[in-house]
Amino acid sequence: MHMGIGREAAIQGARHLPDARAGFLFRPGRELDYHHRDVPRQKELLRETFAGMHPEVDRWLDELERTTAFYFDAITQLQLDSWSRGRVALVGDAGYCPGPAVGGSTSLAVLGAYVLAGELAAAGGDHRRAYPAYEEEMRVLVQRSRAFARGVARTLIPTSALASGRWWPARACCPPCPPR
Ligand SMILES: Cc1cc2nc3c(=O)[nH]c(=O)nc-3n(C[C@H](O)[C@H](O)[C@H](O)COP(=O)(O)OP(=O)(O)OC[C@H]3O[C@@H](n4cnc5c(N)ncnc54)[C@H](O)[C@@H]3O)c2cc1C
Repeated sequence: MHMGIGREAAIQGARHLPDARAGFLFRPGRELDYHHRDVPRQKELLRETFAGMHPEVDRWLDELERTTAFYFDAITQLQLDSWSRGRVALVGDAGYCPGPAVGGSTSLAVLGAYVLAGELAAAGGDHRRAYPAYEEEMRVLVQRSRAFARGVARTLIPTSALASGRWWPARACCPPCPPR
């Protein structure tokens, strides 16, 4: 992982996966100008933001042209008054995503599906009773997860040199602590 002010880049692999995944997180100082289907523009924005950060990061950026899997989005939260209308109910990200990698979104999605199924069964399939009960059961947990996610999102990307870890090498030069 390489961290800088307003940006961080990381790569990860796992034993059971044949490839590695690179992640680039940044906090732009302005509203980004791109269309959600314009992948070349999205890659250009990444290069503009991360080029020259570190030789390793530059090497990861080179892979942008070769990768078959590319995902680019903003970390946002949708605000909905209700998760259902008529017979249609929303579960998981569609209704109440806290944000990727910041608030246990997968757990909420799985739990939401479980609670909804339980309420439908308890109401004998009557969605007019099941949907409000599902919202009632999930509301506090969702609110807490989303509040937690907003807090994590604020600190996820360093806003200062201290937070970005630039002082760590200086600390590493200190003599080792005496044994207690
Ligand atoms: C980069 C990234 C990192 C993340 N990291 C984490 C993490 O570390 N921990 C965590 O808990 N969560 C993480 N998340 C979030 C997690 O992936 C989601 O919260 C979770 O997948 C939500 O599940 P879901 O079933 O609600 O939605 P999804 O997983 O999005 O499932 C929705 C499905 O519906 C399909 N679909 C869409 N439209 C239609 C249609 N019209 N017809 C039929 N099918 C359709 C989609 O193809 C998709 O398969 C991350 C997300 C991203 C993007």
